[in-house]
Amino acid sequence: MATNSEPGLPPGVLTALLPRRNRPIPTALASFPGGIADVSTPDGDSLYNKFDLLCPRPECGSIILRAGVAKLLERPSIQMEPADRTPAALLPLPQPPASTEWWLVTPSPMEFENIGFSKPVAPLSSGDKQLKLLLCAQCDLGPLGWSEVDGTEFWLACSRVGYRADS
Ligand SMILES: [Zn+2]
Repeated sequence: MATNSEPGLPPGVLTALLPRRNRPIPTALASFPGGIADVSTPDGDSLYNKFDLLCPRPECGSIILRAGVAKLLERPSIQMEPADRTPAALLPLPQPPASTEWWLVTPSPMEFENIGFSKPVAPLSSGDKQLKLLLCAQCDLGPLGWSEVDGTEFWLACSRVGYRADS
């Protein structure tokens, strides 16, 4: 048997080959004692995301958006999926027209580090424009947010993204 006669690999090579060794760890919004105030930072008259935004799935943590890119806004909630179809890894949003907190990204998808889009879907709540739902580009978890088809505004639900608070 040659099993034990292989030359040893230099230290560090195996760990360097392990995938996602340095992947960011997403922290949920609900884990911050101060809530949205803990994950936002002022710039001029507006608040922006203080941390990188990540896929909220702990095993993924794909970087969606860098810190300081998205503006915090409170706007009416959007029903992005049927009420009984929210993925287990995501929190339900308030029922429209109740408001919720959003990260607004403009003017193009180029602002994102990684983002995926669904096919156009008819809105399930008020409004007549078709929407594209925002998904994790790595693992397809979503909807994390939405945009209008050919729109210049991209809305991420603050409660549906993870925060890179360890960086
Ligand atoms: Zn993901």
